[in-house]
Amino acid sequence: MSESLRIPRRVRHELKFRVLRVASVEDLTPTYRRIVLTGDDLEGFVSLGFDDHVKIFPPRLGEAPIMPTLGPDGPVFPEPRPVARDYTPRAYDPATRSLTLDFVTGHGGPATEWAMEAEVGSVVGVGGPRGSFIVPTAFADHVLIGDETALPAITRRLEELPAEARATVVVTVKGASERLPLASAARLSVAWVDRGDAMRSDPTPLSEAVERALADVDRRDAYVWIAAEAQVARALRAQVVGLGFDPKAMKAAGYWREGGTAEKEVIED
Ligand SMILES: Cc1cc2nc3c(=O)[nH]c(=O)nc-3n(C[C@H](O)[C@H](O)[C@H](O)COP(=O)(O)OP(=O)(O)OC[C@H]3O[C@@H](n4cnc5c(N)ncnc54)[C@H](O)[C@@H]3O)c2cc1C
Repeated sequence: MSESLRIPRRVRHELKFRVLRVASVEDLTPTYRRIVLTGDDLEGFVSLGFDDHVKIFPPRLGEAPIMPTLGPDGPVFPEPRPVARDYTPRAYDPATRSLTLDFVTGHGGPATEWAMEAEVGSVVGVGGPRGSFIVPTAFADHVLIGDETALPAITRRLEELPAEARATVVVTVKGASERLPLASAARLSVAWVDRGDAMRSDPTPLSEAVERALADVDRRDAYVWIAAEAQVARALRAQVVGLGFDPKAMKAAGYWREGGTAEKEVIED
């Protein structure tokens, strides 16, 4: 087993800000909306990593998006600073210049509100991705843990894993109607955790399922990826390290924060 095949690498991309329009809107579950964006601005769009993110700049209904411009030292923000939120490029098709984003809905916030109002022809600003973190697929085991906001990255990862890999997925959603079909060439084991009305910042429902799901996963050749509400992601990372998984073959991130405005939070020791 070659260690060099297991070292993640970062790739930087030229930063671009784009104005895109909605090509289609589809509700995949009662609280999960798929929006496909298109536009000539997508020329040169690159997303190499399954957990890449773009910044969306959601405008108010009927208004044009307000975005930074690119200065010699990077982005220059107008004042007041426009609202920006992180979303995972679920898919990109260069042939049709179609960028697919999946939005968790059901909470109030400028991004989710824009997604709920969006219709064919609506516009939105999109910046990035600025870079990609590429995790090799050579690990024998891939563990993917998260909540609904992690599903775009998890489904994307499952699509790129090879048949010789094993994937163990643990995802919390509110209930059975919020589950999505998950498919992979890899041998796939999925544990859905229906949390009902439990607080989304309570790690307990996921934590119990993680303990069970990871019992048989080989600690020596596994990559663990976690994304959820920030406190949940922190607690789960500590739990998984405690279960004997290698912190160097692990990535954990807070994708949103209960009661606060999200900034991506990378969780380390
Ligand atoms: C790298 C990265 C990739 C991400 N990819 C996706 C993605 O592909 N799809 C996606 O839906 N989200 C994704 N997220 C999460 C998304 O950026 C946040 O949920 C964001 O806060 C939503 O913005 P908003 O304007 O709707 O709500 P905000 O204005 O940020 O928050 C408003 C209120 O809603 C709460 N809130 C925010 N998000 C949620 C949530 N998901 N569930 C329940 N309450 C919430 C906040 O605590 C706050 O009280 C990603 C985050 C990161 C860091």
